[in-house]
Amino acid sequence: MPNATLPESLINSLAEVLGRENVLTGPYDLDRYSGDALSPTRAFGAEDSFERLADVVARPGSTEDVSAVLKLANESSTPVVPFGAGTGVMGATVPAFGGIVLDLQRMNKVLAINPTDMTTEVEAGVVLEDLENALSPHGLMPGHDPYSVPIATVGGAISTNGVGYRAGAHGPMGDQVVALEAVLPDGRVMSTRAVPNQSAGPSLKHLFIGSEGVFGVITKATVRVFRLPESQVFCGVAFDSFDQGFNAAAEMFALGVRPTLVDLTEEEEGILFHLLFEGFREGVQANEKRAMAVCAQFGGRPVGPGPTVAYWEDRRQSAENYKVSALGKPRSVRWSRWQGRRDFDYLHLGLPISKVLEYRKQCDEIMSQSGIRAVEYAIWSRPELFSMLIVSESGAAADSRERLGRTAEKLLQLALDMGGVMEYCHGVGVKLNHLLAREMGVGQDVVRALKLALDPNNIMNPGKLGL
Ligand SMILES: Cc1cc2nc3c(=O)[nH]c(=O)nc-3n(C[C@H](O)[C@H](O)[C@H](O)COP(=O)(O)OP(=O)(O)OC[C@H]3O[C@@H](n4cnc5c(N)ncnc54)[C@H](O)[C@@H]3O)c2cc1C
Repeated sequence: MPNATLPESLINSLAEVLGRENVLTGPYDLDRYSGDALSPTRAFGAEDSFERLADVVARPGSTEDVSAVLKLANESSTPVVPFGAGTGVMGATVPAFGGIVLDLQRMNKVLAINPTDMTTEVEAGVVLEDLENALSPHGLMPGHDPYSVPIATVGGAISTNGVGYRAGAHGPMGDQVVALEAVLPDGRVMSTRAVPNQSAGPSLKHLFIGSEGVFGVITKATVRVFRLPESQVFCGVAFDSFDQGFNAAAEMFALGVRPTLVDLTEEEEGILFHLLFEGFREGVQANEKRAMAVCAQFGGRPVGPGPTVAYWEDRRQSAENYKVSALGKPRSVRWSRWQGRRDFDYLHLGLPISKVLEYRKQCDEIMSQSGIRAVEYAIWSRPELFSMLIVSESGAAADSRERLGRTAEKLLQLALDMGGVMEYCHGVGVKLNHLLAREMGVGQDVVRALKLALDPNNIMNPGKLGL
């Protein structure tokens, strides 16, 4: 493990490179930059990771700054944790070994908008909503539209390979990335070329997609943009059973119908399939017509656009609330958000389509044996991407949390045993680290070998991705 004792001379060198005002060492700043939206009470076994705080927060303003910081860190084997906005939910920005938290939010420029190439080039610290606002006067929009648009950065979304409301048509954040500029742990700057395909060697941009900053720091990205839709049609469809709605979704995908928004949710109030079709008029009409025929074929009843429009308009509210109550605040404030709430966990699993319904059945059996139940089941953006909000039925807090943790672990392992993945959009962080070897198998040896070659001093976000 890297040496985490930070010499005063390193702080002075950082100040020389970045300016004293961009090097923060006060206890208030060290506290608020240490971690993300995950609290220890929801870390289920990874509570120890929260014991360390950052030793210093460095705020680079350019690729050159990032390169200079990484060189200094590498020479002194000091951990560096890239920090987008700290909205991750897995603890991927927790400075488990102290060191430098590298806040990228000064690198927030939209550098170019290319309506012919259908791309935009941005610095990694651009907040998704600011990108959206910069694109819309050009009649364009990004393809990634998570709940956290108002608060998350492009670099963070790439590093967690997030999923958003438009992923039904455009895929996860990783699919938006055309090219990247990244600073390697020794300070060298690597760029890939801004064209969609290449066949000369492996695709190096993918080394940084979903990698939680362990291979270097993304400084710029060229991402896809889309025309603002000529037509938008919202549809809500009620089903009597989740299986019916799921089978309708699977049939749509098999046919090649690609709604922008795909959200089938079962809650106590019922089962509702939210669909949005966007794009050029004739395409929207054709997709909507066929999708509604498929839903009817599986027993769906149209309930009109109302509930789906309301859901769409409300989609960013949780992030707006987070912005006011927690973003940039000390850990005690962020963590207190969960006080008094029933213990819960949100699981976002990926499984082959053929396994999803059987998985759900087995989960229900496991949960019923441990006093845990799901209050929400959903598929989001693709039939393979299945989520559950699980809660503890009863019991004293300590016992219920422990049961919840144990049960969540069983459900995650079951997904792996059935050929799936334990998380489809939030990354691994400190929360799921212990299951990564089981998910990746020999693949984790490959990741380790790459890490050793690029980062022999293990300075980049040590302790994450099992490294
Ligand atoms: C209210 C709320 C709603 C949310 N909704 C969604 C949702 O709909 N979909 C979804 O996918 N997620 C969602 N999230 C989770 C979170 O917003 C995403 O994981 C987001 O992509 C993280 O972005 P960030 O800029 O905050 O990254 P951070 O949390 O700061 O960092 C995440 C990881 O990326 C690394 N990283 C950040 N920037 C860089 C960089 N430039 N170079 C290298 N590594 C970097 C960090 O080291 C860390 O490992 C939500 C979170 C909240 C609080």
